[in-house]
Amino acid sequence: MKDCVFCRILGGEIPATTLYEDDATVAFRDVNPAAPAHALVIPRKHIATLDDATAADAELLGKMMWAARAVAAEMGVAKSGYRLVMNTHAGAGQSVFHIHLHVLGGRGFTWPPG
Ligand code: 5GP
Ligand code: ZN
Repeated sequence: MKDCVFCRILGGEIPATTLYEDDATVAFRDVNPAAPAHALVIPRKHIATLDDATAADAELLGKMMWAARAVAAEMGVAKSGYRLVMNTHAGAGQSVFHIHLHVLGGRGFTWPPG
């Protein structure tokens, strides 16, 4: 998608610090980190929100979780703990409409989330 910032990262038009990639997903550092360790896992396929995914995308969604685990290890927070977040729709804080899993770690987290 031409106007999608994450598609532009996938296309190499916008630089990013890549931490992990495989056939279906790419993970890179968040440009505005909300924690000492903060990465985003995105699918190579453009899907605007989780609600735009179909049953055919179920395996891809699972691959995002699998990638997040590797990214947590890569960032050194696998043992200390990490949080996965997927904001869905603007009302929940989604600002980039290409689905992404936030991988956050390196500090404590409260519950319920803000
Ligand atoms: P959302 O608010 O949609 O859940 O999360 C979007 C995230 O993308 C934000 O944490 C924001 O900092 C990050 N982000 C937005 N634009 C860019 C960019 O160009 N590069 C990187 N690395 N992260 C970005
Ligand atoms: Zn996109």
